[in-house]
Amino acid sequence: MENNFISRYTFNGIIERYITSLPASKQEKALINLELSNKIKEILLNPSDLTIDNKNTCEWARKNFVLEEITPNDYQVIVKASNNPVLVVENMYEVLCRTHAEITQHGGQKQTWKSIIDKWGWIKQDVVENFVNNCTICAVRKPSFHPLAAKPIIARNFLSRVQVNINSIHN
Ligand SMILES: [Zn+2]
Repeated sequence: MENNFISRYTFNGIIERYITSLPASKQEKALINLELSNKIKEILLNPSDLTIDNKNTCEWARKNFVLEEITPNDYQVIVKASNNPVLVVENMYEVLCRTHAEITQHGGQKQTWKSIIDKWGWIKQDVVENFVNNCTICAVRKPSFHPLAAKPIIARNFLSRVQVNINSIHN
């Protein structure tokens, strides 16, 4: 699915810029893709198996996540801090598009961010803000694109027209 207000290409660029802006040591786990999400599941399902990944990753997984069984043997990774499911990178584009366009009706950065973290975990504010900044529908709605000064003039003309009409009735 591709949305007309932000392309997947633009979105992938946002993700890439966010990741590369981080120190190398933070890049790997800053966002969670399906592969890492599956690794977290494996670590949490096999707490005594220390061969799944290195000690740091195992500790990180246990510290930050728990599993929720959706259907028998099908687990969802939940972020402990927010109690919300992890939003994996592969689903991010669609979830952000839906939240921004349908749930918040092209709400601003803060509104879109709040709506996202209400339901999802392990998503970064920077990514959501850049997403909103790159929405072409929001771009044309920005005040700088609308000559705001024109509005009061229209209102005044309308009111004075009403006034004229009232006066002519009274006369
Ligand atoms: Zn928008």
